[in-house]
Amino acid sequence: MSSAPRPSRTVRHDVAVVGLGPAGRALASRCDALGLSVLVVDPRPEAPWTPTYGVWAEQLGSLPPDVVRSAVLRPELRARGRHVLPREYAVLDNAAVQRALPLAGVEVRAGRLDDEQVSALRREAGVVVDARGARPLGGRRPEGPQDDPSPAQTAYGIVVPAAEAAAALDGAEGLLMDWRTDHTGRRTGTGTDGSGETGHHPDEPPTARARATFLYGIPLGGDEVLLEETCLAAAPGLPIPVLRARLRRRLLHRGLPAGVVDDPIRREVVRIPMRGRSRPAPDGVLAVGTGGRGANVVTGYSVAHALLTADRLAGLLATGAVPTRVDPPEASDLLREAGLRALLRLRVEGTLDLFDAFGQLPVERQRAFWSREAGAGELAGAMWGMFARMPNRSRADLARATLGP
Ligand SMILES: Cc1cc2nc3c(=O)[nH]c(=O)nc-3n(C[C@H](O)[C@H](O)[C@H](O)COP(=O)(O)OP(=O)(O)OC[C@H]3O[C@@H](n4cnc5c(N)ncnc54)[C@H](O)[C@@H]3O)c2cc1C
Repeated sequence: MSSAPRPSRTVRHDVAVVGLGPAGRALASRCDALGLSVLVVDPRPEAPWTPTYGVWAEQLGSLPPDVVRSAVLRPELRARGRHVLPREYAVLDNAAVQRALPLAGVEVRAGRLDDEQVSALRREAGVVVDARGARPLGGRRPEGPQDDPSPAQTAYGIVVPAAEAAAALDGAEGLLMDWRTDHTGRRTGTGTDGSGETGHHPDEPPTARARATFLYGIPLGGDEVLLEETCLAAAPGLPIPVLRARLRRRLLHRGLPAGVVDDPIRREVVRIPMRGRSRPAPDGVLAVGTGGRGANVVTGYSVAHALLTADRLAGLLATGAVPTRVDPPEASDLLREAGLRALLRLRVEGTLDLFDAFGQLPVERQRAFWSREAGAGELAGAMWGMFARMPNRSRADLARATLGP
C-alpha cells in the first residue's frame, strides 16, 4: 500500500465505507476502533451475511475464538490418491464475526449508491472506500446482463444431517476438494489405479463435459454438513443445473438416500466472479474486497485477505496517510493469472493430476499456492512443485494451458 498525506479539507468524517460485506465491515470497524470518524452506507446495514465462509484457522488474526462455527483439523483432498492436509480449516459463524466487528461509533446509512454517489461522498469524508463487492448494481455483471462470459466459480450445495453425510465424506473429517469423478453416477476410475474416466455424464451439455468439478464436504457444527459440488473456475461459469445434477448423482452413488438429497435442510448457490469487479472504482475512491483486487483469482477466496487488509489499511489511515491504492499489482498476480488460465483450460484428467500434485506438496508450498499474500517467489515454488509432481502425460497440457495466449 503506497500512501500520500491526507488532503487538508474540512469534512465531517475521516473515512466513508460503502458496502458492509466482510471487506467493508472489517475496515469500518477497525477504523472506528482506532478513533477515526466513520460513515458507512449499505442497502441493508444490519443484514446477516448468508454465504458459508471458510478460512484457514491461522488467518483469523485478532478475531475471538467464537467466530469459528466449526473446524476441521485435518481436511482432505482426494484426486488420484488421498491427501490429508495438516492445516486447520474453519467455517465462520457469520453473526459472531459481525458482532466481533462492531460499528459502535460509526454513522450508519441505509442506501444503494451508484458510482457518482460514491464519488460524491468525497465531500463528506477525507477518504472514500468502495467495498460494494463484485456486483454493486446487481446482476452477474456490474452492468447487469446475465450472459457474463468472464471466469466464475460456481457451486451448488445442500446441508444435510451429519449421519446422512458420513457416506459422502467417505471417512474424511472434511473434504476440502474431492475431485473423483463419481459425479457421473459410476464408480470413479481415478482412484489408486489412475486409469481415469472422462468424467462426464451423457446428459450433460458438451461445454460442461470437459470441466472437472469437486465435492466440498464440510461439517458446519450442530450436526449439519454442507455438501457442495464446485467448479473452481470456468468461463462462463458452469451452470448451476449441471452442478446440481452432478451433486445428486455423486451422492446417490455414495449411498445417500434420494429423500435426503432432494429435501435438504438448506441449499446454497455460489457464484464468484474470479476477477472481482470488471471495472475500476470511481476516481479518487479506494477499492477493497471483491470490489477491488482483493480476491485470489485462483481460489476465488477473499475473506481472509479482507480481514488482514482492514487491519493494515485502518492502521495507515489512523496515521493520517491516504494510500493511493489498496492491493497494488504485484509480480505474483501474473502467476495467479497463469494459474487461472490453467484451471480454465485443463480438462478433467489434467485437473486431477494437478490437484493430486498439490496434495503431495509440503504444507508450506500448499499454503503459498492458496494464499493471497504469497509473493512471486513462494508462489512460483509452489507452482513448480506441482508441475514437477505431475505425470508426463499432463505436464505438456499444463504448460500449454498456462503459457498459451
Ligand atoms: C455462497 C458464497 C460462498 C463463498 N465462500 C467463500 C469462502 O468460503 N471463503 C472466501 O474467502 N470467500 C468465499 N466467497 C467469495 C467472497 O469471499 C465473498 O463473495 C465475499 O462476500 C466478498 O466480500 P466483499 O466484502 O468484498 O463483498 P460482498 O460480500 O459482496 O459485500 C458487498 C456489500 O456491499 C453492499 N452493496 C452492494 N452494492 C451496493 C451499492 N450499490 N451501494 C451500497 N452498498 C452496496 C452489499 O449489500 C454487501 O453488503 C463466497 C462467495 C459466495 C457467494
